[in-house]
Amino acid sequence: MIPVVYSDKFLADYMTVDCENPDRITSIFTEIEDIAQFIEPIPCEVSDLMLCHSEIIIKLVMKNKITYETATLAAGGAIRAAEIALEKPSFALIRPPGHHAGHGFNGGFCFFNNIAIALMNLFSRGFISDALIVDIDLHYGNGTYDIVKDDKRIAFRNIDASSREGFFSQLTEALHDAASFDIVGCSAGFDTYIRDWGSLLFTRDYLEIGDMLASSNPCFFAVLEGGYYIPDLGENVRSFLEGMQKHCL
Ligand SMILES: [Zn+2]
Repeated sequence: MIPVVYSDKFLADYMTVDCENPDRITSIFTEIEDIAQFIEPIPCEVSDLMLCHSEIIIKLVMKNKITYETATLAAGGAIRAAEIALEKPSFALIRPPGHHAGHGFNGGFCFFNNIAIALMNLFSRGFISDALIVDIDLHYGNGTYDIVKDDKRIAFRNIDASSREGFFSQLTEALHDAASFDIVGCSAGFDTYIRDWGSLLFTRDYLEIGDMLASSNPCFFAVLEGGYYIPDLGENVRSFLEGMQKHCL
């Protein structure tokens, strides 16, 4: 079984675009139920948000109760996954996504930067002293880059390939020194899928990607970012988890 941080509160109907809807989460949940050990997250604290975001952004999201509650639970879910990763690989099945949320801006269906908040939380508690973030979403993790760009403790690597072969060679390069970091976190977007916007990768490819990532460092976690082709999204995440699961013993 693989630890998967999940709450049915992620099915909340907060204000977002049509394609980033609760069915994304449901389709994944039903597909992975037999291989996942579900763990309920708790919301992150305002002090966690402040490690990554300006007060203006935090107050803006606070104006909408349901959005704020779900976004802080998603960030709390990423924190929980990162904590578990110190023992064994884990996955955060969360929404809203986070990698387009920067210090003083948000957008692209993201409100708070889940993966950056998770790592900053571990730094603040002295659990890690450096970290590698690998962003495999189709889109550039501009928010993550914005938050970590001047932080010497964090290396941020974004995979931006126009072919399947290119994707795998970039991922191999991104992971070449992954073992030297205290932890590896992955912004796991599945919009690179052949039937999704990226038209790049097949379901079986995500198994190899999950395997490559989880074998790169004993402390590994992934958080859900994009992925919008709902009929196959669950299968793709399952494939990714099956790749990770080899390293969960
Ligand atoms: Zn994306």
